[in-house]
Amino acid sequence: MCAVVGVFGVENASQLAYYALFAMQHRGQESTGISSADGERIHLIKKRGLVTEVFHKGRLELLEGSCAIGHNRYSTAGKDSVLDAQPVFAKYKLGEISVAHNGNLSNKFEVRDRLIEKGAIFQTGMDTENIVHLIAKSSQEKLKDRIKDMLTKIEGAYCLIIQSRSKMFVVRDRFGIRPLSLGKLKNGGYIVASETCAFDLVGAEFVRDVKPGEMLTFHKNKEPKSEMIFESDPHPCAFEYIYFARPDSIIGGKTVYNMRLEMGKQLAKETPAKIDLVLPVPDSGVAAAKGYADGMGVPFEMGIVRNHYVGRTFIEPTQEIRDLKVKLKLSPIKDMIKGKSVAIVDDSLVRGTTSLQIVRMLKEAGASEVHMRIASPEIKFPCRYGIDTASKDELISAYKSVEEVCEYIGADSLGFLSIDGLKASLGDDTNYSLVSFDGNYFAGGNEETAGCSSYA
Ligand code: 5GP
Ligand code: MG
Repeated sequence: MCAVVGVFGVENASQLAYYALFAMQHRGQESTGISSADGERIHLIKKRGLVTEVFHKGRLELLEGSCAIGHNRYSTAGKDSVLDAQPVFAKYKLGEISVAHNGNLSNKFEVRDRLIEKGAIFQTGMDTENIVHLIAKSSQEKLKDRIKDMLTKIEGAYCLIIQSRSKMFVVRDRFGIRPLSLGKLKNGGYIVASETCAFDLVGAEFVRDVKPGEMLTFHKNKEPKSEMIFESDPHPCAFEYIYFARPDSIIGGKTVYNMRLEMGKQLAKETPAKIDLVLPVPDSGVAAAKGYADGMGVPFEMGIVRNHYVGRTFIEPTQEIRDLKVKLKLSPIKDMIKGKSVAIVDDSLVRGTTSLQIVRMLKEAGASEVHMRIASPEIKFPCRYGIDTASKDELISAYKSVEEVCEYIGADSLGFLSIDGLKASLGDDTNYSLVSFDGNYFAGGNEETAGCSSYA
């Protein structure tokens, strides 16, 4: 997953990048980094940890200059080295460059092998380093042309923010798989960020989404220049709406919370249940559960309490810790649940770990029946475009039918949103990327290639 931000044309650029990264902490908790450019030099600080752990006032003051780019990295199982923190910085023929990337390049192995064959050396396991190499090796004169040259050699999902000592370049792949928006800062200057929730925090005005296939160039004292590098073929990621993005963010003109409500309502139409109460799996299932309750005309209650001091379960590298963490994180309100038939709604089911634990938890709390409802379709294929859904054999719905998964998690019934129902909820004005559900790898890659953006 990951978050990227670029701030251009303001004195306190690194501070604004810091706030933006803080607002987008949900997109990656493994490591964070900011690089700034002061016209002569690029300064960089990146480390493992949360935004508030890595940056403090003294550190931000070192990041001088009126352009800052930043990144929050999402953990990809077991490969959480500090070397894999971003932005990626390099010195090359034209001087200094720094790159932040959200996405996953589907031809990263071929590109890297070709570069290594020609003698390139790599310091990190990230596909982002391919981008830096391709820019450095390009025979074009100007950085902008080198970037364009590089773009002809990469495939897959990317939102790129590239910084030189005096300019900033922003590119979104032609499918627009990962979100990226442009905002205007109050006292001049611009901000580009993965999610609009970053604009709300720094008081920036939303201008528009960066277009799929578009490149924006930011120069000093000029308006940003827009060019279409590729013909756009929009396929925004449905999973941003289902799970990943913050509910207050607006992607493709749609508020994420409202989309989740719609998915819940649609789910109620498709898989109703005889229930007294609807409970969400907090926090990710809250909006969909509210929609399901509204659709069913049944009370919605926050019957499971979440301990907010434990990180997201998915982040942990090993299965044992993940199981433990679900129990540490969630706890039922017993006298609300005792003797009741309940529907419990989550946004998605990946390995089935969360559902299994929660059904058990609700049964132990005395629920007479537990009906699990998932506000997205069965995940049968690994995403290759920036969501770390690991390998296919970890996806329970890839191998088990709905009935078998229901039996595994121990629920009285299990219902998923259909693919058509998902499309109907999101609106039929757009072709969404539904690769996890339908296995259509339209931007390259396949179910066999590695899912995360790192190499072993
Ligand atoms: P499971 O427990 O079935 O493996 O995963 C389902 C849970 O993980 C759901 O509660 C969902 O909110 C969450 N989830 C789904 N996809 C992702 C992801 O890409 N990253 C993280 N951290 N959590 C996810
Ligand atoms: Mg969840």
